[in-house]
Amino acid sequence: MNNIDDSHNQSLIRLSQVQLNLLELCPPQFQRLYLEQLGSPVSPEIQDNLLWGNQFHQLMQQYFLDLPLDSILDVNQDLKKIVEALLKAVNEQHNLNLDSWKEAEHSRSLEKGNYLLTAIYDLLIINENQAEILDWKTYLQPQNKKKLENNWQTKLYLYLLAETSDYLPEQISMTYWFVKIPHEPQFLKFEYNQNLHNKTTLELESLLSNLDNYLLDYNQNNIDFPHRENCESNCPYYQSFFSEKSDIDEVEENSDLFSMIDEIEEISI
Ligand code: SF4
Repeated sequence: MNNIDDSHNQSLIRLSQVQLNLLELCPPQFQRLYLEQLGSPVSPEIQDNLLWGNQFHQLMQQYFLDLPLDSILDVNQDLKKIVEALLKAVNEQHNLNLDSWKEAEHSRSLEKGNYLLTAIYDLLIINENQAEILDWKTYLQPQNKKKLENNWQTKLYLYLLAETSDYLPEQISMTYWFVKIPHEPQFLKFEYNQNLHNKTTLELESLLSNLDNYLLDYNQNNIDFPHRENCESNCPYYQSFFSEKSDIDEVEENSDLFSMIDEIEEISI
């Protein structure tokens, strides 16, 4: 596996939210991507989105490091407008006073079993009784809040802060900011609590226990990661895994699974 932390715990496997999402959704594709490194080429559209996403994240990091942005913003009035609107809205919504501690690109990790769970927060704001995680998304706010709540980015980010700080779950929140020219910035906020923390803990333990078993079978008995039950009929990876068995036309193109795959790609931007 390529994501091994060789500085501190050489045997630990690094897992971020991207891997957890894929592992839950499709174990065989997880095997292909992270064990066998057989990824598909990224489309030009996704490449453009990734580039714009990276540039925007760098810009925000620069701002929160108190570095000047004028030379960048003065040559792009659309970008200037949206960055100013975002910063105004963030200041209105969050507890960014003189006493608050804040850090862009703040990383957290936690050893759990054979794994090192990792997260990088776009911005962490710390106050005496409150810890706020902010994440920039360079696309429009999704309609379905529940899906974002259930995404491993939300669950893992909140979980890691509760596990690695003195804050109670009730004192922690995560807010996604959605930024897309020429729209006004929008946000979705998720408050955490002990019940959600317990639920995430159980889900995580179950997922990691499955991964333990899959890796054992794969490494010792050469057994492939298993398919989930009942998703072959609307499988987004149908062509790569099943094309020799039957006709690709059987795949339902607008399935929930396709939209979940899109979200995994989207959420990493
Ligand atoms: S049927 Fe498709 S989506 Fe489901 S586990 Fe198998 S490859 Fe993954």
